[in-house]
Amino acid sequence: MNNQDTGEDFLYQWITLQNEEDADEGAKVTDDGEPKACGVCGDLARGYHFNALTCEGCKSFFRRVVKRSTQLHCPLLNNCTITKKSRRSCQACRFRKCQAIGMRGEMVMSEEQILERRIRIQEKKMRAAASQLSPRQEEMIQELLLGHRSTFDPTFSHFRGFRSLDRNTHQIIKSVIEPFDLTTYMIQDIIRFSKSFQAFRSLSMGDQITLLKGATFEIMQIRFNMVFNSKANNWKCGSLTYCLGDAVRAGFQPLLLEPLLKLHQTLRKLDLQEEEYVLIQAMSLFSPDRPGVLQHSVVDRIQESLALTLKTWIDCKRTDPEKHLLFPKVIACFTEMRTMTEEYSKQILQIKDLQPDTISPLIMEVVSKDG
Ligand SMILES: [Zn+2]
Ligand SMILES: [Zn+2]
Repeated sequence: MNNQDTGEDFLYQWITLQNEEDADEGAKVTDDGEPKACGVCGDLARGYHFNALTCEGCKSFFRRVVKRSTQLHCPLLNNCTITKKSRRSCQACRFRKCQAIGMRGEMVMSEEQILERRIRIQEKKMRAAASQLSPRQEEMIQELLLGHRSTFDPTFSHFRGFRSLDRNTHQIIKSVIEPFDLTTYMIQDIIRFSKSFQAFRSLSMGDQITLLKGATFEIMQIRFNMVFNSKANNWKCGSLTYCLGDAVRAGFQPLLLEPLLKLHQTLRKLDLQEEEYVLIQAMSLFSPDRPGVLQHSVVDRIQESLALTLKTWIDCKRTDPEKHLLFPKVIACFTEMRTMTEEYSKQILQIKDLQPDTISPLIMEVVSKDG
């Protein structure tokens, strides 16, 4: 990635800071200061997950298996050795080892329940929403709109000059690299979008990074949805048009792409206005339940006031008879995206294994927690 092209120096400072942040977190859980090994695969473990000391990869793996509750079968003798290198080759033995070192499936479910409970509590509060936007809420919407418009270009005009992109270069290289360049471009805009809010800037650097890492995929999808054409099932990014096939050629798998297309269709059907799109992006950014958020109650209050503003906005600006269903439908999309974020990170890492040059360091930073 070309630093001079973008002139976004703070991006690189952020990444450096982010690395220190990760190191700090490691030191926190290893009481004697020594790095610890994952009980499943031996990779570096940063903490206890579902009752056992594991790496981020085995944590995600365990969560996925428990949630899908599919039967796993070992193609060999049920005694495969699980190492960092081999851990992807036998899911059955990897899962058995997870259980053997004490990882507990019910703890995955309770994590889900916590999220659901939060949503229920929020919905209850929403029912008491006022019927008119307060001056403070109007102000908030204006700040968000301003931040959004200055960091989202629906014509994607700057992207054309990104990494001296030439649409006429070799077809294969173009189709493999371009979606990732577009992603890098989007991430930079999303960072600038987040930094444009006073409330975000006033959080600690560590929490800013945690929130950004958690929300980038979601905000990216919300932004892409603004240019999604549900009749043609494609995304019109200025003069370039992308379809699902482009993502397939870039190396993404149906396990992500199928629910992703469905999400875009569902979200598009809601026919959201710019104010609603912007509030949803901000709600995603200020999610207090991203793992590792320290100023939890501060972030929680911000998200709640954003949600309340969205609810009030819908109540007073929308006229359609089905408008009371809009807010719950938006919340349902959040839950959908939450499960996709993890699959996205996983697939990015797989693509990186096969084609190391396609994934920019910035994309790697965003997905690095869910290895
Ligand atoms: Zn592991
Ligand atoms: Zn096996």
